[in-house]
Amino acid sequence: MQGLMQERPLSLPLVLRRVERHFGHKRVVTGRADGETEATWAEVCGRVRRLAGVLDELGVPDGARVGTFGWNSQRHVELYLAVPCSGRILHTLNHRLFRDQITYIVSEAADDVIFVDRSLLPVVWPLVGGFPSVRHVIVMDDGADASLPGDPRLLDYETLLAAAGGSVRELAVPDEDTAAALCYTSGTTGNPKGVLYSHRSIVLHALLLLMVDTFGIRERDVIMPVVPMFHVNAWGLPYAAMLAGSDLVLPGPAMAPGQLVAQMERQRVTFTGAVATVWRGIRPLLSGHDLSAMRMIVCGGGAVDDALSRAYQDAIGVPITNAWGMTETSPVVTTSYLATVHDGLDAVGRRLVIGSPGPAVPLTEVRLVSDDGAQAPWDGTSPGELQAAGPTIAARYLGESTPGTGFTSDGWLKTGDVATIDPHGYVRIVDRTKDLVKSGGEWISSVELENAIMADPRVAEAAVIGAGDPRWGERPVAYVVPRSGAGLTAEQVREHLVPLVARWWIPDQVVFVEEIPKTATGKFSKRELRSWYWRDAGTGPEHDAGSASTAATKE
Ligand code: ADP
Repeated sequence: MQGLMQERPLSLPLVLRRVERHFGHKRVVTGRADGETEATWAEVCGRVRRLAGVLDELGVPDGARVGTFGWNSQRHVELYLAVPCSGRILHTLNHRLFRDQITYIVSEAADDVIFVDRSLLPVVWPLVGGFPSVRHVIVMDDGADASLPGDPRLLDYETLLAAAGGSVRELAVPDEDTAAALCYTSGTTGNPKGVLYSHRSIVLHALLLLMVDTFGIRERDVIMPVVPMFHVNAWGLPYAAMLAGSDLVLPGPAMAPGQLVAQMERQRVTFTGAVATVWRGIRPLLSGHDLSAMRMIVCGGGAVDDALSRAYQDAIGVPITNAWGMTETSPVVTTSYLATVHDGLDAVGRRLVIGSPGPAVPLTEVRLVSDDGAQAPWDGTSPGELQAAGPTIAARYLGESTPGTGFTSDGWLKTGDVATIDPHGYVRIVDRTKDLVKSGGEWISSVELENAIMADPRVAEAAVIGAGDPRWGERPVAYVVPRSGAGLTAEQVREHLVPLVARWWIPDQVVFVEEIPKTATGKFSKRELRSWYWRDAGTGPEHDAGSASTAATKE
């Protein structure tokens, strides 16, 4: 027997109608190089309806991909709504990827039109010749003075919107499984792969972010996604803000640490999220700013090192909360919170719990699978591959007619992360499978070793890779950025590690560098570090490697 409840689609027009009707007076603020712009959600939604009309006028077919190269901005939010609510697919693109990757992604997705912030035009326009499917490039003028090529394909966002006048068409997506948004994985292993979110998965994911033991996003919040809107839909934060009716504060191109922290202070931001690199950049500026409105800072996409979290707790009273996810998982699968089982912990213990990935959010499930294919126990120590399943998790990649090798035969996503899970379901990421260092037949977690090195106040950043070793198979090599004026030596790095990790984890090679190379999404680029290592290999352990990698000294 079937239930007798209304069959209403979980689709984005529902979110649009809610923010428009209930929260029309709340604000969307966008940073610019020279200040900020502000609009109400009512104004934004009015423009969304006109923008849907613009897409009709341009003849963008139903289901076509609409590419965006944009900073976090009001116009990008307008595209987040107008494109999927009118039956097209929003395809956010990361302008920091390699040119070949961008061309590959636009071609595979066969984007029909692309929207580009004027400040990004110098990056994007030279590539447009390699985008055969793209009929129009619509420029969003963010105040940059980048020159506009005289080309009939180039159109202006505001001119099109003004011409659309008051045209209002009904925005409805009756089938919740319709594709709404497309995002490519960053392609750290092989070509990037397209993850195609549905209306249903996006709405469910936004709802999950509102739950109190997830991010608890609410009407009173002032939400500032620093995580880019091309990085897994800014972790779904803009949609969550619409559903809850929060103010949304967006940095635009003003992404320097000083600009970000000033905007957080000025707008009394209560909730923000970004990768660890951003939090490390802002850390030295904390003492000069009033961030007393902040209630939660989320670091996703990588581990939180406790030294960083402690610095935030000491300076502004808010430790950093970790969350785990992937492009394939919308992205939030786990985030940490203090449960009743943690009641007896002291302040440091609580901070460590909050700074770990935490348990799966409702509706999603995780499991650990050992090398022999059996499920590993949830005892907090047995490692296994983390696998995930749920309505917000990809079933297969774009272009695959059946699930490929990234999925198990029973439909779970193979994450490629090695993890442990404790009896209460709290996940810890040991490492990415490919980043584990196998020394003398035993695994060393590069993540744990990095965090131990970064616990030293004389260290600004550290990343660890495995390098071939004739005796041990592999040995860890630490790349370390010392804090300015620290005058740190390799021996001091090793001494600092003695009480923190097993003796055989301590790296024989410590390479001092000015900066750890980052991926297009701001994470440590182990691939780049490996290529530095290979470039420098053979120069001998005592050699100054400064000529090979930027001002590196190898000891
Ligand atoms: P990429 O890093 O390839 O750009 P994603 O942005 O999808 O792709 O990143 C997903 C990966 O990031 C995960 O598989 C995992 O290795 C890492 N990651 C994400 N969150 C965390 C976390 N909280 N702790 C450790 N690693 C994480």
